[in-house]
Amino acid sequence: MRAKSVPPEATQPETTLSDTEFIRYSRSLMLADDGDSRQLRLKHARVLILGVGGLGCPVATTLVGAGVGQLTLIDSDKVELSNLPRQSLYQTGDIGKAKAEVAAARLRLQNPHPRLTVLQCRPDDQQLRQAIADCDVLVDCSDNLPTRLQLNRLAREAGKPLFAGAVSGTSAQLYLLNSQTACYQCLVDPNWQALQNCRTLGVDPALAAVTAQQLAWLLLQYLQATPAQQASAVPVGHANSVPFGHYGRFAASHSQIGFHWYPLHANPSCACCGAGADAAQKGAL
Ligand SMILES: [Zn+2]
Repeated sequence: MRAKSVPPEATQPETTLSDTEFIRYSRSLMLADDGDSRQLRLKHARVLILGVGGLGCPVATTLVGAGVGQLTLIDSDKVELSNLPRQSLYQTGDIGKAKAEVAAARLRLQNPHPRLTVLQCRPDDQQLRQAIADCDVLVDCSDNLPTRLQLNRLAREAGKPLFAGAVSGTSAQLYLLNSQTACYQCLVDPNWQALQNCRTLGVDPALAAVTAQQLAWLLLQYLQATPAQQASAVPVGHANSVPFGHYGRFAASHSQIGFHWYPLHANPSCACCGAGADAAQKGAL
C-alpha cells in the first residue's frame, strides 16, 4: 500500500474563506443567504471515495471543484484503454499508471485548496478502518460486490453515512444509507455470486456521468447542511433533502427521465445489521 497526503499550497485559517476562495466559489456563494457558512462546511468536510472509475472520477471532480476540504481516494487499478470513454480524469498517456495517483494529480491542478490523500491498493479491513476514521462521509463508487459489502460493513461499524452508486449495462442505482436505515447487505441475496459489472455487461458512458452527478448533488446537499439538518429525517422530494433509507433507480420514459426513489426495507436477519449480525457476534464470543 502506498499512502501519501498532498498538502495544500497555502494554509488558510479554518474559520474563514480566503479572498481567493471567495472569488473561486463566488457563484456558489450567491445561491443562499448563508452561502459563506455553507461553503465553510464544505471546506471542513472530509470525504472518502472508494473507486475512482466511471463514477468516482466525475464525483471527485465535482466535489473538488465545489470546495470540499479533504478527499481520500482509494483504488487499486491502473488506467486501461477501455476506461477512457467515461473516466474523465485519465488521458491516453496515462494507460498503465496508478488510477488514484493520476486522479489526485489532475484534481490538484483543478483546485489546489483541498487536501488529497491517496490509497493505491485494495484495502484490507484495518486499512479501510483507518481511512474511514479520518472521514465524515463515505462514497461507494466501486465495481464489485465484495468491496461494496466490505465498505458497507465498516461504514455501519463506524456509524458513518454511506452514499453508494452503481452503473452497469444500461441500468443505474443510488443507495443512501446511514446507521438508522437498512444497510446494503440487507438488499443482497447471500447466494448471489454472479459477476455483474461493467466488465461483463458494458456501461453507457453518459449514464455513468448522469449517475455520478446525481450522486455528487446529493453529497453536496448533505455536506453543506448543518449538523441538525443532516440528522433530521426529511421526506423524499423535499427541497435540499437527502432521502436516507431510499434507493434511486434510473428510468427513462416519454414523460420523465431521471432517478425514481423507493424506500429500502431492512432485512431482520441481515448478517451485517440484523439478527444475523447478533448471531455472528455471539458465535465469536
Ligand atoms: Zn443490513
